[in-house]
Amino acid sequence: MSGLEETLDPQDWEALRALSHRIIDEAIEYTRDVRDRPLWQAMPKEVREVLNSPLPQDPKPLDEVYDLLSKNVMAYPMGNTHPRFWMWYMGSSNFTGALGDFLAAVQGSNLGGGNHAASLVDQQVVDWCKQMLGFPETASGTLVSGGSMANIIGLTVARNQMADADVRTEGVGALDRPLRFYGSDQLHSCHQIAVESLGLGSKSLRKIRSHPDCTIDIESLKFAITEDRAAGFNPACVIATAGTVNTGAIDDLQAIKALCQRENMWFHVDGCIGALIAIAPGNKSRVSGIELADSIALDPHKWLHAPFEVGCALIRDRDAHYGAFTLTPEFLEMTERGIASAHWLHDFGLQTSRGFRALKVWMALQEHGVQKFGRLIDQNIAQAHYLSELICKTAGLELTMETSINIVCYRFDPGQTSEEDLKRINTEIMLQMQETGVAAISDTTVHGRHCLRAAINNHRTVATDLAFLVSETLRLGNAIVNASSLFSH
Ligand SMILES: *Cc1c(COP(=O)(O)O)cnc(C)c1O
Repeated sequence: MSGLEETLDPQDWEALRALSHRIIDEAIEYTRDVRDRPLWQAMPKEVREVLNSPLPQDPKPLDEVYDLLSKNVMAYPMGNTHPRFWMWYMGSSNFTGALGDFLAAVQGSNLGGGNHAASLVDQQVVDWCKQMLGFPETASGTLVSGGSMANIIGLTVARNQMADADVRTEGVGALDRPLRFYGSDQLHSCHQIAVESLGLGSKSLRKIRSHPDCTIDIESLKFAITEDRAAGFNPACVIATAGTVNTGAIDDLQAIKALCQRENMWFHVDGCIGALIAIAPGNKSRVSGIELADSIALDPHKWLHAPFEVGCALIRDRDAHYGAFTLTPEFLEMTERGIASAHWLHDFGLQTSRGFRALKVWMALQEHGVQKFGRLIDQNIAQAHYLSELICKTAGLELTMETSINIVCYRFDPGQTSEEDLKRINTEIMLQMQETGVAAISDTTVHGRHCLRAAINNHRTVATDLAFLVSETLRLGNAIVNASSLFSH
């Protein structure tokens, strides 16, 4: 070679510096002014064309690339960082976290493990998650892409521990008695995907009826376990939900713990929504008992508002966790000194290479302290109750479900309208709000009744936003009814 080697580094570092400063400036404004832009807007044809162009063969200056991105991507977000985004269930991000993702990429370390500072930060964030939930210091855990993966990690350990054969070696085909997992009919869909991926089949997951408040009916659960045991199944695990996705219902964690103890079953908690209520001073008693679980899935990209992605699985029995995933090929053997002289973090999950997703959580927790995050959770719960009161006071709106934590289920109901028409009107309200970019809510069906659903997991929402949601629902509902003879009554 002759000194003509190529590299991805720039030739002009000063030009890169200038552009990077501009990008940061614009990113700060983008975040500061999020309230002033439409929450969402449909993408025009030209944008779709740009984002469907073929593989670039030739170079472009980076500022042209940035302009393309700025015009075609940054202008068309999903909307979840906006103060009036209450759709599905996600966090609203934070700028410190974005800096964390940037710096994680700048350092570029691989969190498969090794003896370097990022590994310690990763482990420290896992330890902080344990502390937030009151989980024992001796427990283990791992940061993953999100709640779905965190649940898969927990359920994999549960399967291996509860199986009557060595599943890692023999596979599920060697089981004498098929495993059974239990959760309520409000369970998140990721659990079915989990048991399917674990080779157990969707029938291995029994959905137990929930009470009118959407918490699991423990008597029905007991009955199902007894019935399955008599039929030759192996009742292995109860999946309790702390904060269901439809309505925010929190299962009776203490009662489920007691049941699991009596039945010698694994107690897993899907705490993707509610686990972090444990840090909220005004509401933490709602999730007491979570610290008794064998495994927990939680989701820092929800109520800690970390930018996507970061979830966390915590497992009480460290050996069981390690035993489910460890496999060290020769090229990854530990050395006594140097970069490989530490336990591999990949031994606690499915990924070998792992990103430095811990840093965005670490930075925001350092900056604000956990108490502020706790207060923000209390704030969202108080806002949901405030919104519920407004709805109850407003003629033409109906609260369809008593509000538990931060999810409000309601609908526009002008009276004397069929269920079918109500569903059509309310769906139209939801879509018009999204399309005009003023607010985003979703819809769902709870115990057979269709409703609108506002999930207030947002550190930017203020009370006037909620008053606006109420008046806008009413305004759109009346306009839709008046404009359409279909909905005449
Ligand atoms: C969000 C959620 C999940 C899935 O988490 P992701 O981070 O989206 O993968 C699982 N369970 C519940 C109750 C959730 O709310």
